[in-house]
Amino acid sequence: MIFNEKMESLDREELEKLQLDRLKNTLNRIKLSSSLKMKYKNVEADDIKKLSDLQKLPFTYKEDLRKAYPFNHIAAKKEDWYRMHMSSGTTGTPIINVMTKNDINQWAEIMARCYSAAGVTKNDIIQITPSFGLFNGGFGFHYGAEKLGAFILPIGAGRSRLQLKFIKELKTTVLCGIASYPLRLMEVAKEIGFDFRKTDLKIAILGAETWSDELRDRIENEMNVKTYDIIGMTETGGVGMGIDCEAKNGIHIWEDHYIAEIINPDTGDVVDDGVDGELVITTLTREGLPLIRYRTRDITKIISRDKCECGRTHLRVDRLKGRTDDMYKVKGVNFYPSQIESILMKHESISPYYSIILEKINGKGSITIVIEKRDGFGSEMLEKLDNELYDFLGFHCKLQVVPEGAIERGAGKAVRVIDRRSV
Ligand SMILES: [Zn+2]
Repeated sequence: MIFNEKMESLDREELEKLQLDRLKNTLNRIKLSSSLKMKYKNVEADDIKKLSDLQKLPFTYKEDLRKAYPFNHIAAKKEDWYRMHMSSGTTGTPIINVMTKNDINQWAEIMARCYSAAGVTKNDIIQITPSFGLFNGGFGFHYGAEKLGAFILPIGAGRSRLQLKFIKELKTTVLCGIASYPLRLMEVAKEIGFDFRKTDLKIAILGAETWSDELRDRIENEMNVKTYDIIGMTETGGVGMGIDCEAKNGIHIWEDHYIAEIINPDTGDVVDDGVDGELVITTLTREGLPLIRYRTRDITKIISRDKCECGRTHLRVDRLKGRTDDMYKVKGVNFYPSQIESILMKHESISPYYSIILEKINGKGSITIVIEKRDGFGSEMLEKLDNELYDFLGFHCKLQVVPEGAIERGAGKAVRVIDRRSV
């Protein structure tokens, strides 16, 4: 096992001491941000005596960062600005993260750790499929791979046939991408008779979307790879905040760089380990955009703070279940789209492309699930699926079965839910 033994296996006491020191730095740093300093104007670094004092500090919300657009939240001096990345901004004003040279180095460090946790070494050939640009994915994978010293194929997004050609002819061993991209590759592979089993590909590092365990199994089987679930977002400094290791028992968050708390999203109180809640992140080493108690909206829980089988001591959270803003309520039942995905993806005769359409019919909520059938899908299957969905939701969904390929395949993150209730 190759990992940074010194930092990744610190015992909890040492780790928490380091976190306390670095938390004070972050608080001092935040005083340099013209918008964020207002929130923390009544707190001084010396007020923080122990880690649990963090719980007394106010949260930072996406809205705080949006309102500061373009640069009022940035805490680095302009002469230290090095590069920016930006959140996708699908819901209005984007959030910009300006990185300093130290931020880029921090990013490379945590990404190299992520590769290492996934068993990637400098002897690997890494094909990077997220885009290089404002989205942080491409660059994050790139910096980490550079630091590791591996051979990089920086192909970027799309061009699925070329991606497959490279995998085969350039002997790619590691594929990095957003979680739904392998579905497109698997589909094109089928069309052209491409066999992943005849390639050297062995590892896929995927993230940026919620993907169920069942979808994960399907990608592993069809592409003949081991997958690793990587997390991180533009606001926290990009992809690489954590990853699951070979023990596959939760996602390690790099605690020397981040403090993770799980809170009840309604009350704001920290919940016990093992209880689902919203992931809240405090950055410890970021310069351009230091964050205190950032509400990520991701739903997860702490699995363990004990040393993992892999030797790492950094805490583990569960794979992300969904986001607080993509929990839906229909007929009084709350659910995440990923829970429906889990039910659909158990069945080989259903393609991994699906849509969940929410509507209001005669004032009542209804769900239509559009699925693409594959060979072997029959009326028995339809009935079985209807029962399974009924067991989960407590009411019947409408099931619309279409031929494989009928649902539009977009570039970028997959759109799974179409909410027509307010139309
Ligand atoms: Zn581990």
